[in-house]
Amino acid sequence: MNVPLLDLKAQYSKLKAEIEPVIKNIIEEQRFILGKELADFEKNVAQYVGSKYALGVSSGTDALLISLMALNIGHGDYVATTTFSFFATAGCVARLGAVPVFVDIEEESFNIDCNSLESALKKYKIKAVIPVHLFGQVADMDGLISLKNKYGFSLIEDSAQSIGAQYKNGVSSGNFGETGCFSFFPSKNLGGFGDGGLVTTNDSIIYEKLHCLRNHGSKIKYFHDYVGGNFRLDNLQAGVLDVKLRYLESWHEGRRINAEKYNKLFAEKNLSDFVKTPKALYKDSGVKNYHIYNQYVIRVKDRDNLKKYLTEKGIGCEVYYPLPFHLQKCFQYLGYKEGDFPVAEKASKEVIAIPVYPELTDGQIEYVVDTIKAFYTKG
Ligand SMILES: *Cc1c(COP(=O)(O)O)cnc(C)c1O
Repeated sequence: MNVPLLDLKAQYSKLKAEIEPVIKNIIEEQRFILGKELADFEKNVAQYVGSKYALGVSSGTDALLISLMALNIGHGDYVATTTFSFFATAGCVARLGAVPVFVDIEEESFNIDCNSLESALKKYKIKAVIPVHLFGQVADMDGLISLKNKYGFSLIEDSAQSIGAQYKNGVSSGNFGETGCFSFFPSKNLGGFGDGGLVTTNDSIIYEKLHCLRNHGSKIKYFHDYVGGNFRLDNLQAGVLDVKLRYLESWHEGRRINAEKYNKLFAEKNLSDFVKTPKALYKDSGVKNYHIYNQYVIRVKDRDNLKKYLTEKGIGCEVYYPLPFHLQKCFQYLGYKEGDFPVAEKASKEVIAIPVYPELTDGQIEYVVDTIKAFYTKG
């Protein structure tokens, strides 16, 4: 049996009839830059996320970059973030000449650890903190906000994997900080037909600045208040995403149901010596989107051989992430070493993501679990 990590063709076949006329219409009108579709999409995402403003941008990476720019983060400023995330989270900080300060993660959630963060806050004058809501679950926002109140820093949420994910108080990712940064990379829960991203904020002054920076820092054509960039989201992408947004809640639910099926099967098949299933921290708080499972990530023994075995058996899987930031070659100049962040280092050796996309069948889920069982019991 073949079980890809993600099957976007299955999703597209259901939406084809709705999406194609939208694309066709934009092409007929030749309305590619900053059009009606983008404005509609921004309005609809703001409403969905529950934030006052939403600004479409060129990618999740650029959402982070433009947020840092809007908050005047630049040369020599310290910005703290988790050492365990997709590269963009830290790369954007370094690209602006700011200094990334890495922080360890919590064992259970893989999200930024507030104790580790507080050690960094005591050591450096940190201007901004970027928590990541990794794999689709919101970070410890109570802890982060109390540290923000104590130490005073800007908070930029990396919500790239967590659109619609709710904290235990029912507030959605992207509403806790100065800005929330989203990605529409095709493998995210809301994925476009190419690159795309978005920034949310509840602050009108920050919104105005983001809006201006997106278009080369210009409010009036050819007059530039700031040095911005071309960070615009294509109208075609916005049109596609606006259709998909209507299905997002049902896709989240499909992923959650699949995650629960995995949890149950792993428990029934007595695999707890080999496989640790992910913990949904806010499940009992009553919020619907306690986890949106952009990835279903398990911790396993003998990870690299399991990965090889699953690949041979036709099962898509991936390691998010095999090397924490503080051990990356490009960050050697920061002077970190092995052992600095033991929780993240351990995670990087144990984690593996298995397919959880909504269109998976029960047969496929069972095949994945049975194949993992076969790997550990084959003698
Ligand atoms: C995907 C992702 C990004 C970057 O988004 P792009 O749209 O690919 O630029 C940033 N941070 C995290 C955690 C991501 O998963």
